[in-house]
Amino acid sequence: MIRRDFHTHSIASDGVLTPAELISAAAREGVTELALTDHDTLAGLDEARTAAQTAGLTLIPGVEISVTWDKRLLHIVGLGVDADAPALVNGLANLQRTRAERGMTIARRLERHGLEGATDGVRELARGAEPTRTHFARWLVATGAAKTAQQAFRRWLAPGRPAYVGTTWAGLEEACDWIRGAGGVSVVAHPGRYKLTRVRMARLLDEFRAHGGQALEVVRAGADVREIDELADWARRFDLAGSVGSDFHEPGRSWQRLGRLAKLPTRVRPVWHQLDTASGATSGHD
Ligand code: MN
Ligand code: MN
Ligand code: MN
Repeated sequence: MIRRDFHTHSIASDGVLTPAELISAAAREGVTELALTDHDTLAGLDEARTAAQTAGLTLIPGVEISVTWDKRLLHIVGLGVDADAPALVNGLANLQRTRAERGMTIARRLERHGLEGATDGVRELARGAEPTRTHFARWLVATGAAKTAQQAFRRWLAPGRPAYVGTTWAGLEEACDWIRGAGGVSVVAHPGRYKLTRVRMARLLDEFRAHGGQALEVVRAGADVREIDELADWARRFDLAGSVGSDFHEPGRSWQRLGRLAKLPTRVRPVWHQLDTASGATSGHD
């Protein structure tokens, strides 16, 4: 049986498993095709590829790019990308610099508000990755400054809160160009999470298509039937393929278990038809 999960994270960004641990966990869950899509980095892909070969699982090399569009943060997933493509590599390096600077500013602001040790604490917790807000939320929970990650965002990290730092990420066109230049397919990640009006959603998908974007994440973990149905309609209307992904970050969160995803509605063209998963380039099986 084929089981796909095209949106996951490792410690190369804000996941808690190493790429090899992620592959083992996915294999245990019966996943046969997995995309590793860390935030703005390809650093986990080498280790994941080796582990996937051992586990007999097909690895789709991916990335989740932070994009600023219409003054808001969007995530564009790239699937089947060549990790050596210069424009993608350079673009992501710039985003990592932005993320590092933002991280230092967030830490300074937390320290100014009496939360001592934010800089070193988050650096340690991020295990070599550039810090995401998820890392800061985990540190705030670990030190007792917040009860839950949600509370950490509400009190400190969300827009308008003391440690929020407005950031300009990649442009939508830029991100799509990098992904296409790397031979990959662009996917709008978790569209249901942006809470866009229908007018804005139409404008986004229109622009996304114009920049060569090809797919929509129609099925995410925990999405209800109505959301999946609505996103299938959007995919049809804009002639976009559909992807499926859990957005897995850590074990023990029942709503984002690896590979436990609803079926892509049959009226949507599957994105895996556009991915060369059977070729030696992306495959872990002989
Ligand atoms: Mn994340
Ligand atoms: Mn995301
Ligand atoms: Mn994600």
